[in-house]
Amino acid sequence: MAKKQFKAESKRLLDMMINSIYTQKEIFLRELVSNASDAIDKIYYKALTDDQLVFDKENYYIKLTVDKANRTLVITDTGIGMAKEDLENNLGVIAKSGSLAFKKENEIKDGHNIIGQFGVGFYSAFMVADVVTVTSRALGSDEAFKWESKGADGYTIQPCEKATVGTEITLKIKESTEDDQYDEYLEEYRLKAIIKKYSDFIRYPIKMDVKGQ
Ligand code: ADP
Ligand code: MG
Repeated sequence: MAKKQFKAESKRLLDMMINSIYTQKEIFLRELVSNASDAIDKIYYKALTDDQLVFDKENYYIKLTVDKANRTLVITDTGIGMAKEDLENNLGVIAKSGSLAFKKENEIKDGHNIIGQFGVGFYSAFMVADVVTVTSRALGSDEAFKWESKGADGYTIQPCEKATVGTEITLKIKESTEDDQYDEYLEEYRLKAIIKKYSDFIRYPIKMDVKGQ
């Protein structure tokens, strides 16, 4: 008898993810910082086998930029970036981990630093943001693309400008309601505390830039 594959309703899966997998909203930052660190690690690993690529530690960092007036939190990294297909495959397919694939392709064994493997962490951003915009330029490319989504109703991808290789994730932080507080994710002290709690071990510098304090 032919075996049939399960199909998943991606909208419902995403809703379930956003609302039940994670109990604490604050972990969105851990997930996005881990992804940024993974992206830098990927350049590091590529540089080990590619003579053309020099990994100069000073050029690699993660940065958080807060704009209170516009309610945006931007997570920038100077990592490997994503090409259009990567945005489509890694951010458009729930539970698809580009990092797990990278580890397999490059035969990176245990003891590695790359954290990602389940392909769901990114979507935790929708716990605190009602719009997520990812602009990215892949290593070796001079094209950049912008992926944008409001969550369950899908995403768009279009070409954009980006001067440097890497990824920039803009979260439009939700408005607070009587039941849910989101303003704290625009506060420097709060973001610093979350970073300290979950991302202290990250090997690359995490910078912070706050506008409108
Ligand atoms: P995981 O980290 O477990 O693989 P995520 O849902 O956190 O899953 O991310 C999905 C995939 O999207 C990653 O595996 C990676 O390929 C890609 N990705 C996410 N964020 C970034 C980033 N900042 N830079 C490059 N690739 C990224
Ligand atoms: Mg991840």
